[in-house]
Amino acid sequence: MAGYGDHEVSDDPLQILRHSTAHLLAAAVTELYPGVKYAIGPAIKEPPGFYYDFDFGKQVSDAELPAIESRMRRLANADIPYVHEVLPREQAIEEFRKRGQDYKLELIADKVSGDGVSVYRTGDFLDLCLGPHVRSTRDIKAFKLQRISGAYWRGDEKRPQLTRIYGTAWQTQRELDDYLKFLEEAEKRDHKKLGKDLKLFTVDDRVGPGLPLWLPDGATIRRELERFIVDEELMRGYLHVRTPDVARLDLYRQSGHAQLYAEYMYPPMRFEDGEELELRPVNCPHHIVVYQTELRSYRDLPLRIAEIGNNWRYERSGTLAGMNRVRAFALNDAHIFCTPEQLMDEVKGAIDLALYFSKVLGIDEFSYRLSTRDDVKDKWLGTEEQWEEAQAALAEALESMGQTYEVGKGEAAFYGPKIDFQVRDAHRREFTNSTVQVDFQLPQRFELEYVAEDGARKRPVMVHRGAAGSMERLFSYLIERYAGAFPTWLHPTQVVVTPIADAHNEYAQEVAARLRASRVRVEVDRRSERLDRKIRDAKLKKVPYVAVVGGKEVESGHVNAQNRAGEKVDMALESFVEMLTAEIAERRRPPQR
Ligand SMILES: [Zn+2]
Ligand SMILES: [Zn+2]
Repeated sequence: MAGYGDHEVSDDPLQILRHSTAHLLAAAVTELYPGVKYAIGPAIKEPPGFYYDFDFGKQVSDAELPAIESRMRRLANADIPYVHEVLPREQAIEEFRKRGQDYKLELIADKVSGDGVSVYRTGDFLDLCLGPHVRSTRDIKAFKLQRISGAYWRGDEKRPQLTRIYGTAWQTQRELDDYLKFLEEAEKRDHKKLGKDLKLFTVDDRVGPGLPLWLPDGATIRRELERFIVDEELMRGYLHVRTPDVARLDLYRQSGHAQLYAEYMYPPMRFEDGEELELRPVNCPHHIVVYQTELRSYRDLPLRIAEIGNNWRYERSGTLAGMNRVRAFALNDAHIFCTPEQLMDEVKGAIDLALYFSKVLGIDEFSYRLSTRDDVKDKWLGTEEQWEEAQAALAEALESMGQTYEVGKGEAAFYGPKIDFQVRDAHRREFTNSTVQVDFQLPQRFELEYVAEDGARKRPVMVHRGAAGSMERLFSYLIERYAGAFPTWLHPTQVVVTPIADAHNEYAQEVAARLRASRVRVEVDRRSERLDRKIRDAKLKKVPYVAVVGGKEVESGHVNAQNRAGEKVDMALESFVEMLTAEIAERRRPPQR
């Protein structure tokens, strides 16, 4: 049902086709399930397709989808026209009452004003709808029902729970096949699935949704990422600090978060002695306090204060997804305090760092979005002039670095415009991984100062930047990017040493000990399994190198290893150690097959 529900009427042919397929689905369902009530059935963009909500009055499972789909096909082949009628209100009500369609009656009561009620017929099936639709069911050639989930009538959890059937429809069978194949590939790479299969992280109801636990192998990858990030930042003149996850609520009153960001914040903890503590939603106020520990002079600027700091944001449960959207995350955060004259260089430096991280981590596909002020909600601080100035500075920095960008109107935070680095997950859903944000507001609210060259007190500008994003989101991205086959430097197990027989155990241990001495993460597979089974298991875990040692290796002091691309090396143990440690130190990307 388009137009009368919460969805827009579309003139995009693909959306019209998909919405028409939703009608076809409802027509098939009403034939197969007498007494079923249908609610709404819009086309949707993400994922591309449609759904229809039904009240079956009983449980319906995925196993019933094929039968519904084949009835839809039969109706499609029958070439039934979509007939538009505008009925007098009383007649429309009578038609839907006769059919027992209470949800449609409610929609007529709430959404239709005036006397004419727009309906569409396909055979016996009648829907309340403004259209448009395809001409005939025959125009629907390529579709597939995909899954069933629950949904509340009109999104209200106090109203009945309905059964939502999702499907997708395309202009041609070929487009449909391509899409289904893409979905299958994305499913294999899905970080929630791989995170479980490879034992990287877990989400447990007892801990709570949106609060993932990093398992040992996942924690190893995170430690490597953090070392890489912190070392690079130290080299680029950042100063790393450690600050607590909580602060007095007053700190966020001063920053404005308590007023303007409250919907995402955890409720404050109030104690008997009057103390009010708040889990921090951002790190900025803590870093401002660090800045204010001494009187800063122009010689101290730019001052780049960095931390991988935990942030707490209460995202709605429906939006939580594995490691990608969580309720507590560790942000690769920094706040740069500088003079207005230094601003451009600092913005460029932050972009350059994000680019460097992307290059090393293999984030090859990304785009820039310049997020500007939200005029509609009127949720912003400062003057028009300051915003214009900051927006211009960001645009100029990007342009001077030869980067193209799009403008995200209204996507900025309340205290300043920002550059977002947009990347895509395996399902090609776009999300923000890192940001560079100019802020004239917090320096004012906290009365930040520095002593200028002429001795006068001046106000610094602040740049908030997250160059590699949050550890959680970055991890979810990397899992999908590499489908678990992480570069050697990141992989939790870099080498598996596999002795051919018990007699070779001692040499296998010797090889492992030598590798460990050079900080290589190595395991010895001493299970009494067949050799090909052991090699297969290591490949399933996507281990970068499998070293097989037998009599020949014991005698020669060699290592006979195979990488994930199937390339073999046979070399002296010392040479192998040297090769491996160089690959790790240079953080080389894995060979592409
Ligand atoms: Zn319709
Ligand atoms: Zn900040």
